[in-house]
Amino acid sequence: RAKLEGRGTVRFFQQKLHDELVRQHYLSSRLEEALDNGELSLHFQPQVSAVSGGIENLEALLRWEPPEGPTISPAEFIPLAERSGLIHRLGDWVIEEACHQQVAWRAKGFHRHRIDINISGRQLTRPGALKRFEDTLQRHGLAPQDIGIELTENILIEADETVLEDLWRLYHRGIRIAIDDFGIGYSSLSYLKHFPATALKIDRSFIQDAPTQPKDRAILEGAILIGHRLGLEVVAEGVENAEQLSLLRDLHCDLIQGFFFFRPMPAQEIERLLSGFVGGPGGLSG
Ligand code: C2E
Ligand code: MG
Ligand code: MG
Ligand code: MG
Repeated sequence: RAKLEGRGTVRFFQQKLHDELVRQHYLSSRLEEALDNGELSLHFQPQVSAVSGGIENLEALLRWEPPEGPTISPAEFIPLAERSGLIHRLGDWVIEEACHQQVAWRAKGFHRHRIDINISGRQLTRPGALKRFEDTLQRHGLAPQDIGIELTENILIEADETVLEDLWRLYHRGIRIAIDDFGIGYSSLSYLKHFPATALKIDRSFIQDAPTQPKDRAILEGAILIGHRLGLEVVAEGVENAEQLSLLRDLHCDLIQGFFFFRPMPAQEIERLLSGFVGGPGGLSG
């Protein structure tokens, strides 16, 4: 009997694996078409000042809304695009779209906020990727401060010489470079000495339980301190409640990003927000 049950379990997992592979194959083959058909869009999630509550920065996050079904998360389709190589076209589209949006907002008089886009490791393996990013900014008449990039620690560690040179050039031109998901990579802290960065984004996992778990709090406190001592702006990701916000303010974190204030939103909603028609949750005054 045990043998039979075991076999049933194996078959169950084989089926799940099979379904998963079929879905991946389907999404991967649909993605390019989706890009061509305008099924992809950028949403923007505000980062607010921990002190004033003002919107300082917007993180651009890709969304795929297929006409035939529910929205698909970038966490699912970005890895597929990396594997197929479509990430290069997709990445170009994101840069172009972010620039286009920022130009439109500047023209409407919204001058304060910056936009950051995510760049994945595979994107930087294409020669000249960062040069092209700078050129796109210039072509749109944007200043270096208008659009920044987010890279994970692993990307910085694995970057080759030419990519590092490009990153330093961006850095010296005043383009913002944030280290995304800080603290969850496999890297030692020493890389912080050698790589260009202007900001640290502390991963959500350290924020989540910090108000109640002393060890999480200690790590969070240490990360913010390291960031500040290195002259970096510190951003907290995934802030979902008032307790987390209050702690982060006590620890002098600079910027707050998370559902407690705002979810990622389409450009139109951001615009209403920037126009001051829609308020935040009032977390800072309360
Ligand atoms: P990320 O860069 O770390 O982005 C932050 C993620 O956290 C986003 O997920 C955002 O929706 C989510 N988030 C923000 N606040 C909260 C919160 O309070 N609670 C929780 N539970 N989650 C929160 P999203 O949009 O699903 O993106 C997932 C990942 O996909 C991103 O992680 C990024 O690595 C990648 N990604 C998204 N857009 C792009 C893109 O244009 N290019 C590239 N290369 N990667 C992208
Ligand atoms: Mg990010
Ligand atoms: Mg992140
Ligand atoms: Mg993250």
